[in-house]
Amino acid sequence: MKNLTLENITKVCGGVYFGPADKLDQEVSSITTDSRKIEAGSLFVPIVGERVDAHKFIPQVMEAGALATLSERTLENADFPYIKVKSSLQAVKDIAEFYLKQLQIPVVGITGSVGKTSTKEVIASVLKEKYRTLKTQGNFNNELGLPLTVFRLRDEDEIAVLEMGISDFGEMTRLAKIARPDTCVITNIGPCHLENLGDRDGVLKAKTEIFKYLKKDGHIVLNGDDDKLCTVKEYEGIKPVFFGMEADKDIYADEIVSRGLKGMTCRIHVGGESFVTDIPMPGRHMVYNALAATAVGRIYGLTLEQIRHGIETLEAISGRFHMIETDRFLIVDDCYNANPMSMKASLDVLKDGAGRRVAILGDMGELGENEVQLHAEVGEHAAQCGIDVCICTGALSANIAKEARKNPQLTVIEEPDRDSLLAHLDSYVKTGDTILVKASHFMQFEKVVAKLQEM
Ligand code: ATP
Ligand code: MG
Repeated sequence: MKNLTLENITKVCGGVYFGPADKLDQEVSSITTDSRKIEAGSLFVPIVGERVDAHKFIPQVMEAGALATLSERTLENADFPYIKVKSSLQAVKDIAEFYLKQLQIPVVGITGSVGKTSTKEVIASVLKEKYRTLKTQGNFNNELGLPLTVFRLRDEDEIAVLEMGISDFGEMTRLAKIARPDTCVITNIGPCHLENLGDRDGVLKAKTEIFKYLKKDGHIVLNGDDDKLCTVKEYEGIKPVFFGMEADKDIYADEIVSRGLKGMTCRIHVGGESFVTDIPMPGRHMVYNALAATAVGRIYGLTLEQIRHGIETLEAISGRFHMIETDRFLIVDDCYNANPMSMKASLDVLKDGAGRRVAILGDMGELGENEVQLHAEVGEHAAQCGIDVCICTGALSANIAKEARKNPQLTVIEEPDRDSLLAHLDSYVKTGDTILVKASHFMQFEKVVAKLQEM
């Protein structure tokens, strides 16, 4: 890894090196916190977690060929190189910041309340048409995930698409200091992490911390249909590129047609030109994500044809509106996470499904003091969006059920928890159903998806 010698690593994380001096100028081949992923020449970073203290893996990773390890403690009788640091977590951030500077690769940083991963995927799918593109894998978007993503970059990569997720003030500043984006994309400002951020103005403030480390000649790409984001007029002389559904936006979509669960077709207008594209994922929100990707594609010099092709070759990822066809059902596996905005968006898509449209919904976490009201609003939405069955699982979801029952045409079922749902699932679903599975991550609704696949 470019310039990541043991000497430089020791310096940037303010550590103390123990080991033979002749190894100090060796570069590490990779950096990992996972003892099973050690390769010859790796640097191991032992993280002290709630359940496991990874320092216990140090002997085995050195045996497996690691060049060196970090350690928060003095290692008695160590016969291998190690760097003693105060905090492994802080060290990975410091090393990642240094490493990204060595590579000088343009960075697109993506944040927002909902749709970060989905938008990241479309942006990367577009940029790959012209550049060797590295993107965040899955959801590695926090103060550990972002550095680990940075460590996957190599000199040959031409652009990095990095997801940045936060739940509190100050966090984005720390992430931005590592990523130093050339382009910042914000998808929207929703009622998420309100237990820390208070209200949507707090969310706006926390997310826009990303601008603090924006490069001088950088770009800002914002959802202009978001009532909070459209108030951002400029940042240190940089005017945002706004995207949205109206012709007054810099980049906008019209002629929007749903192809049901197969996806969306729309015309995207940019700088006096336009093109028609078939987005291979359903939901009006995917049009927004494609608009964000068009904006980024333009910034990095792609032709409209390259952008269109990138959008149309987007691949689905598990847990995020991933369509699974079994002999009996069409399952919409959206179980990775949920919040009020994404629940409503997914329900809107479900209504285009064939057969009975069944929503299996579970509790949404981290909503703060308004959690009851926010669940009730999802229930109101479920009542009027035109689905057939709504199965509400968990204590908070009882509030979804209560509102959903106001539509007598909708069959509403309540379950106290996931295990009880799993036990009764057979009796709730029928061959031919289209079934949406969605809840916050802690509900572990991947078990519901797995059960449906077996049925
Ligand atoms: P997390 O905070 O868990 O990282 P995220 O911001 O990465 O979430 P995604 O995983 O991309 O969000 O999307 C979650 C769900 O939100 C999707 O399955 C989809 O239903 C919906 N969604 C995707 N994009 C948008 C969008 N732009 N606006 C509203 N909803 C969206
Ligand atoms: Mg995500």
